[in-house]
Amino acid sequence: MTTAFYSHAECRLHDMGAGHPECPQRLDAIADHLLATGLDVALEFHDAPRATLEQLARAHSSGYVAELQDVLEQVRLAGKPRSLDPDTVANAGTLAAALRAAGAAVAATDDVLAGRARNAFCAVRPPGHHATRDEAMGFCFFNNVAVAARHALDVHGLQRVAIIDFDVHHGNGTEDIIAGDERVLMCSFFQHPLYPYSGAVPKGTNMVNVPVAPYTRGPALRETIDAMWMPALERFAPQMVFISAGFDAHREDDLGQLGLVEADYEWITQRLVDLAARHAQGRIVSCLEGGYNLGALARSVAVHLRVLAGVA
Ligand SMILES: [Zn+2]
Repeated sequence: MTTAFYSHAECRLHDMGAGHPECPQRLDAIADHLLATGLDVALEFHDAPRATLEQLARAHSSGYVAELQDVLEQVRLAGKPRSLDPDTVANAGTLAAALRAAGAAVAATDDVLAGRARNAFCAVRPPGHHATRDEAMGFCFFNNVAVAARHALDVHGLQRVAIIDFDVHHGNGTEDIIAGDERVLMCSFFQHPLYPYSGAVPKGTNMVNVPVAPYTRGPALRETIDAMWMPALERFAPQMVFISAGFDAHREDDLGQLGLVEADYEWITQRLVDLAARHAQGRIVSCLEGGYNLGALARSVAVHLRVLAGVA
């Protein structure tokens, strides 16, 4: 069985303007590096379908889905960018990109649950983990991982799924959507204080939130993960593992001040692969969130994929 790799050319059409760190070149950097390292041959490439409104409404209010779709459609027809929050801008390509990003996560979930792939990575943008049930913010429109997790629960009938978020920023949107949904255990670490300045006090008993101080490095974070995440995950015994894979906790990433390097992403991914092997028949769907230093992003995604694909 293989590792599926979902992306779509339309994910490049979303563009928040010159100099914005969440840029189309992020996906190019990942794709180039996979080719350059030969890792592409270990993956099965798929074009992401568009998520349906029904799929999106499993994580968002149907009012929000309809309203955002309407706004993005107006922006598409007008061809003129519109700011939805101070750092989240929609352009003519945003609607298609956002639907492909969430659609990738759903299709990857279907593939993994059907046994067509052992696990999957979605190289998509816009990212999703700051999108709340009713609000676009922090570069995010639809919450790709939350949509996929609810798809696994509500459509495939799973009873327990884990969401792991290792982006440097707190996944406030995912927390907003799944806090109190005891079918989901969410484990995250995030630099604190840092945008969006939430997470220090978890919103539900199904959250394992680990705020970490700026300049924390890999060894300390690994100890924290083993102490805080892993016992809770072992007890929970998830039937599937979703990853909000942000790579902006990398030492070279300027959007945060944490000190992770590729070896740390390799270690974290291996922990999650082992967890999934014990409890979840290996089932993992990982979705790109942040990661803004193009070189560090490409190298970190590659080690993440190497572990998912079992390539030495
Ligand atoms: Zn981030």
